[in-house]
Amino acid sequence: MNDILIQNTTAFFEKSFGTSPEKTVLSPGRINIIGEHIDYNDGYVLPAAIDKIICFAFGKKNSKTSKVIAIDLNEEFEIDLTQEVKLSDVVWTNYIRGVIKQLQDNGFSFEGFNCVFSSNIPVGSGLSSSAALECGMIFGIKSLFDLKLEKKDIALLGQKAEHWVGINCGIMDQFSSVHGLENKVIQLDCNTLDFEYHNADFKDYSLILFDSNVKHSLFTSEYNTRRIECEEGLSIIKSHFPEVKSFRDATEEQVLSLKDKFSGKVFSRVHFVVKEINRVIKACKALDAGNIELLGELLFETHYGLSQEYEVSCEELDMLVDTAKEDETIVGSRLMGGGFGGCTINLVKKGHENEVKRKFSKLYLDTFGIELKFYDVKISNGTTLL
Ligand code: ADP
Ligand code: MG
Repeated sequence: MNDILIQNTTAFFEKSFGTSPEKTVLSPGRINIIGEHIDYNDGYVLPAAIDKIICFAFGKKNSKTSKVIAIDLNEEFEIDLTQEVKLSDVVWTNYIRGVIKQLQDNGFSFEGFNCVFSSNIPVGSGLSSSAALECGMIFGIKSLFDLKLEKKDIALLGQKAEHWVGINCGIMDQFSSVHGLENKVIQLDCNTLDFEYHNADFKDYSLILFDSNVKHSLFTSEYNTRRIECEEGLSIIKSHFPEVKSFRDATEEQVLSLKDKFSGKVFSRVHFVVKEINRVIKACKALDAGNIELLGELLFETHYGLSQEYEVSCEELDMLVDTAKEDETIVGSRLMGGGFGGCTINLVKKGHENEVKRKFSKLYLDTFGIELKFYDVKISNGTTLL
């Protein structure tokens, strides 16, 4: 599938600019096995890059302007690199403007370039097409003009570009798009950016994403509320247990002992966070031991925590996970990403993939009148030159 994407992107560059591209960059989307909503709560996450990518073809332009073509949208724009970079009404161009701005603001100088890009990462389904876009652009400009940028710098600049566009994201998406390795998951400490690879051998199970095809508008407001609730919860824990500096230091027992000290929903939020941080550690051990059934159990636990305690699920996602829980050929399932829509991640027994897809498609369509989409994912390399 990626071969055709690469051929088409290359051909489009040649047709548009009359020469072959000088650099071709492949930049992947990502999944997160476990560790949800804890990137901003001092936790570890367990993401991986996948075999869905944006392909970019780059060439020097020998001028002070750059031209970028989004093949999938059939749109293009030009930017004068000598002028101050400003936000535009055309959203996709902002990710590119943001990248150019971050590189310039951080002292990197480069000349004009031509770029065309095309993608097979579904947009807005939680596979982080935006991070793939930012990191692929930075990687391409770096390669074309020999900029001294380490992988970590690319991820951090990509994140800053996304903040500039207006999304206050954590570092996980860009980090995993850049640092991904085939058949490895990345245990990432979002505070320090320390990371460790673990083998991603799912044995008798296939990783399949079920795309609910819904995106409820609650996402942004609830996300901000959760951040405030967690800050409040942490300060209460700290005031009773001075040795606790971050959620990572807190135990479930401590949280339970303070149950009547938290207001409103704060107890449930904090209880989820402390348990989720522990689940990531357990999940790494389960993967290392090849115990995929245990890993699957942890995924279900995460889902029910996200749904009942953290309250970021929705009826469509809950139905998909409840149905998976009853299905003997699925050992693990949970909502993946921020919630209120997007995908569930599932571990499906090999040989049963088609039957599972048929069953879930029909049930989902009958219940919600919405088509369920499926993405088979393989864990693959991070942003790279072809
Ligand atoms: P995701 O979960 O996929 O990252 P976002 O809303 O964060 O969803 O980012 C999606 C945005 O990234 C799109 O609205 C668009 O502006 C940009 N984008 C992603 N893929 C493409 C593409 N193939 N062509 C043009 N723009 C893209
Ligand atoms: Mg995104």
